[in-house]
Amino acid sequence: MDELNNAFRKLIVGVDTKVPLLNGDYVTAINLDNAATTPPFNSVMKKILEFVPWYSSVHRGTGYKSIMSSEVYEEGRAIIKRFVNADKSRDIVIFTKNTTESINLLAYILAQDDDDSIVLSTEMEHLANDLPWRDKFKVDYICTDECGKLSIEDLEMKLRKYAGKVKLVTVTGASNVTGFKNPIHEIASLAHRYGAKILVDGAQLVPHCPVDMKDFDSAEHIDYLAFSAHKMFAPFGIGILIGPQKTFENIDPVYKGGGAVTLVSRQFIDWESPPYNNEAGTPNIIGIVALLEAIRILNCIGMDVIHEYENSLIDYTTAALMGIPGVVLYGNSEKHESKIGIVSFNLLGFDHRLLAKILSCEAGIAVRSGLFCAHPYVEKLLKITDQELQYYQENPDVPFPGMVRISVGLYNSYSEIDALVACLRWINGDKIKCKQKYTEISQKVSGPKSPLLYTPRKKMP
Ligand code: PMP
Repeated sequence: MDELNNAFRKLIVGVDTKVPLLNGDYVTAINLDNAATTPPFNSVMKKILEFVPWYSSVHRGTGYKSIMSSEVYEEGRAIIKRFVNADKSRDIVIFTKNTTESINLLAYILAQDDDDSIVLSTEMEHLANDLPWRDKFKVDYICTDECGKLSIEDLEMKLRKYAGKVKLVTVTGASNVTGFKNPIHEIASLAHRYGAKILVDGAQLVPHCPVDMKDFDSAEHIDYLAFSAHKMFAPFGIGILIGPQKTFENIDPVYKGGGAVTLVSRQFIDWESPPYNNEAGTPNIIGIVALLEAIRILNCIGMDVIHEYENSLIDYTTAALMGIPGVVLYGNSEKHESKIGIVSFNLLGFDHRLLAKILSCEAGIAVRSGLFCAHPYVEKLLKITDQELQYYQENPDVPFPGMVRISVGLYNSYSEIDALVACLRWINGDKIKCKQKYTEISQKVSGPKSPLLYTPRKKMP
């Protein structure tokens, strides 16, 4: 494992970067916040530098460089399709800026021929796969259980209840809070049986596991898939939306402008065919070059190898966290094959923000704390009542509960997890002293929005 990890670490920009601690010492940064974004691969940076001398505007120039850039741009669609086994001719790849934009775009398009239909989302979604549907469709949410796992029984029950009126089942491939993977092909089969299509929010799935959209003729076919390059070692502003060409024909584009039209007069607009009608303006070719190189590296390693390595690392993390008194784990499951490398927790008696900040200030460890843009899911896992929610809404100065999240990438090591656990044990061992130290410091710095520390101003009664 160590050899594998050493090889993975060499692929990443910035694994040896030193960051300052509160005491002024410098340590090698430990990034356990890969679900938010990942650092680039070294070869992605190299590829960009190699490409830049050939960089030019796509589709608009007759110069050699422009033709080259256009070729990279178009060939990129085929490479991306192969990566997730999308259909060569019937699917199209639309370039966006991230998963959020991809899902908003699809929601906008599907709402155009809407006829009062229903979208089934789930209780475990990131807001990116919840909010875009709310103002356009009647939305219902498939339940999760106590642990945070999606209820397939509830999905089927709701599909039956709405009797053919469900247009889309939209579900995350893997949760950014608990790491639970959803059985997307089983969900696809069910959705299709009841005449609905499926969108998979692949933001957390595509970077960590093999994804297969499967044949159009298969009941398990994934109709739409969205994901972000910045979560897969190519942080240059590219998102992907894949779906059948047909969906994107004869629509009113959300963004209107050059590149999306064939001919315009004062009297008429002739829109381009898909995907171009949805890609108005100058596209982000550097972002695409970066993504294609990242895909090449991920393919060389093998997505199943990545999945296995990250899962063993998160199993190790989970077991170690369970050994710390006062740690409360969320969405804990024994079956690691149905998870990706994420675990969320709290340390009893500690504010989640403060804990995350102490990890950074004392050990140079980056984690995430809060609601992870999956507010309803985290609220449910934390068992926050409607009454409490209303209280927090009416009192925005009262610090809201949350969790701390560890999310690993292929370059994280077992020794980094050991450092995390050692720091948590140290904090836990001397809770009172530790809290006191950070409260005193926080009083010296300027207010609750300080980059270093957060001071709760009011307490919940
Ligand atoms: N869905 C999930 C499951 C996510 O984890 C995220 C990012 N945290 C998103 C959607 C949104 O991705 P982006 O910020 O790249 O649009």
